[in-house]
Amino acid sequence: MKTIDLRSDTVTKPTPAMRQAMAEAAVGDDVYGEDPSVNRLEEMAAAVMQKEAALFVPSGSMGNQLAIMTHCERGVEVICDSLAHVFHYEMAAAAALSGVQLHPIDNLHNEAGIASLNEHIRNPQDFFPRTRLICLENSLNRGGGTVMPPELMAEVYRLAQEYGLKVHLDGARIFNAALALGCEPAALTAHADSVMFCLSKGLGAPVGSILAGSRQFIDQARRNRKMLGGGMRQAGILAAAGIFALEDTSFLAADHEKAQYLAQELAAVPGLKVDLTKVQTNIVLVELEVMPLQDFLQKLRQQGVLAGGAGSAAVRFVTHRDVSMADVQAAVEIIKGIMLN
Ligand SMILES: *Cc1c(COP(=O)(O)O)cnc(C)c1O
Repeated sequence: MKTIDLRSDTVTKPTPAMRQAMAEAAVGDDVYGEDPSVNRLEEMAAAVMQKEAALFVPSGSMGNQLAIMTHCERGVEVICDSLAHVFHYEMAAAAALSGVQLHPIDNLHNEAGIASLNEHIRNPQDFFPRTRLICLENSLNRGGGTVMPPELMAEVYRLAQEYGLKVHLDGARIFNAALALGCEPAALTAHADSVMFCLSKGLGAPVGSILAGSRQFIDQARRNRKMLGGGMRQAGILAAAGIFALEDTSFLAADHEKAQYLAQELAAVPGLKVDLTKVQTNIVLVELEVMPLQDFLQKLRQQGVLAGGAGSAAVRFVTHRDVSMADVQAAVEIIKGIMLN
């Protein structure tokens, strides 16, 4: 039985052409700054994000945590969305590694939340922590891959500057966000001091993420990366996959089409609820109205379809390059079979 893995776009495997590029990569010791492939990837990434410099890091989580560590001193506060990856899925690293407090607020990514954002920025009085950083996430993973338009990001950035705060963008899926918004990634990063994006998700590289920002910021983040044990040696083998991935991201459009198809089909199945307005990129959240989540996931698994949970009664499907439209169609038939029996 063929497995159709819709748990995450992180399951994508490097293609033969990508593996070839990795095998042939020129390498050196990156801790000495001598790996030509890493240097090239960092230059390419900085150019795409329109930032002065970039840093290749082993994971998105390390990229976000380096951003927090580099922007903040101990004892300050970081505002993020209550759905943010940095809040839910990074092992409380902001507290454990950087000694900062996350201040999660609802709706940071839409008009309603932004209108009251200033109420969450602390007054500079002696008994409050200082707010230092706002962390945005585009697309918003736990929000179902929803996107934040550049105009809204600009509003947050304007407010941040007014209060002397920095803005970090968790752009793990920034290429999906930009595609959905019909803009370049740089139109989003223009409204942030730093950005992290993943090469290892929809872009299909086996390992790695990028942190980008000002030259001074990246110089300090490089020192912090070394402190965390993230200084890598002949990392050009991995960077070559990243270069290959950045050379052509156009296939992501097909991932969005597969997600649209899946969402529309499932919205019509009794017992399933899909908010189609929230299906904007490659993630589909489906509410289960009649069956416990674990039962549903197990039935899917028995028939070769893998999906994830999102909360207690929602299923998360993520489309990616390694599932074809035919695979998605097969998954839809299997899901209909489960729900109609
Ligand atoms: C996946 C993800 C990350 C972290 O990436 P890892 O490489 O898995 O550590 C950070 N932010 C968001 C929004 C993500 O989806």
